[in-house]
Amino acid sequence: MSDVTIKGARKSYASMEVLHGIDLHIKSGEFVVFVGPSGCGKSTLLRMIAGLEEISDGTIAIGDTVVNNVAPAKRGIAMVFQNYALYPHMTVSDNMGFGLKIAGLSKSERDIRVRKAAAMLQLTDYLERLPRQLSGGQRQRVAIGRAIVRDPKVFLFDEPLSNLDAALRVATRIEIARLKESLPGTTMVYVTHDQVEAMTLADRIVVLNGGRIEQVGSPLELYDRPANLFVARFIGSPAMNIVDAEILSQQPARLGVRGTTIDLPPDAEVRAQGTAVKLGVRPEDLRLAGSDVPLLSGTVSLVEHLGEVTIAYVDIGAGEPLVAKLDGASKIVRGETIHLTADRYKLHVFDAANGSACLTARLASAA
Ligand code: ADP
Ligand code: MG
Repeated sequence: MSDVTIKGARKSYASMEVLHGIDLHIKSGEFVVFVGPSGCGKSTLLRMIAGLEEISDGTIAIGDTVVNNVAPAKRGIAMVFQNYALYPHMTVSDNMGFGLKIAGLSKSERDIRVRKAAAMLQLTDYLERLPRQLSGGQRQRVAIGRAIVRDPKVFLFDEPLSNLDAALRVATRIEIARLKESLPGTTMVYVTHDQVEAMTLADRIVVLNGGRIEQVGSPLELYDRPANLFVARFIGSPAMNIVDAEILSQQPARLGVRGTTIDLPPDAEVRAQGTAVKLGVRPEDLRLAGSDVPLLSGTVSLVEHLGEVTIAYVDIGAGEPLVAKLDGASKIVRGETIHLTADRYKLHVFDAANGSACLTARLASAA
């Protein structure tokens, strides 16, 4: 078993606490991504699993063993960093097999493992090359291969793609997604600040912010049902629009937004500490209202015609401009007044007092 169980994990540097009690269970064979802004504690938590940082309080277990006091080399983990640090004078094959050589494996055993990992990473044709004869993406794959040959139970990645240019990042991300399929029993924990990487790779995403977990869920759970404003803004691009609103009625749920009354789905209830709330609507969920009742109206301050879609920035007279991802064929122009609407099942509501999602659907299945 190679599940990872984190209980009440805290980390302090001198008197500054940077992780404030993390509880998380990562299942054996699961691909979990830690995502969050720079400095939120992603690397620290990963390094605590790896044994590269001490755990100030709480426990971390791999399988049934609490590893707080187990040396990194004895934890059955392998880690891939942003800086792939290959030995420049060694071939790809020797770089990948070096750790095994140190561990005393025979040349034939090393060759078998290196060839298998190279095949998995499409590196078979490059085994006799030197690192400088490879692209950045291939070098990073060698670094991953060097970790695979050790046959770890838990694979840890810390922003492995962030030194690559955009095209290589996409290609290498696809390699990592393939790798996950070829190593189904291996638990993988992957750190990134890039929400696209998180959405495309993860079975489950852990959103961290300021040393705390904001939400844990599958990519679509986080996208469809963000638990709070932080997650709502962090997942999805362009980011969710957030507009001040007030509760007019809790059940049926009805909001007032800039003079307009918005009826939320009939099975929903809105429960907040006061009446001040924030309405959230994703740019891709907005459309031109046509003959429907508009949700929000404003003046177009900028239009980007991207072909497939048109992005409109709409000044609604308060706060940030609204961003709407409209049909590519939309002929709207700057300065025009437009009326936008959205499917009311796609609307999000957050408590203005604490940022938590506060729209509760009354599911028919409760009956
Ligand atoms: P992330 O990987 O999410 O960008 P880190 O885990 O690297 O964030 O850092 C979390 C916090 O801990 C940051 O505030 C950072 O400055 C602090 N930190 C990280 N390493 C050290 C260290 N060795 N000494 C003191 N503070 C540190
Ligand atoms: Mg980091």
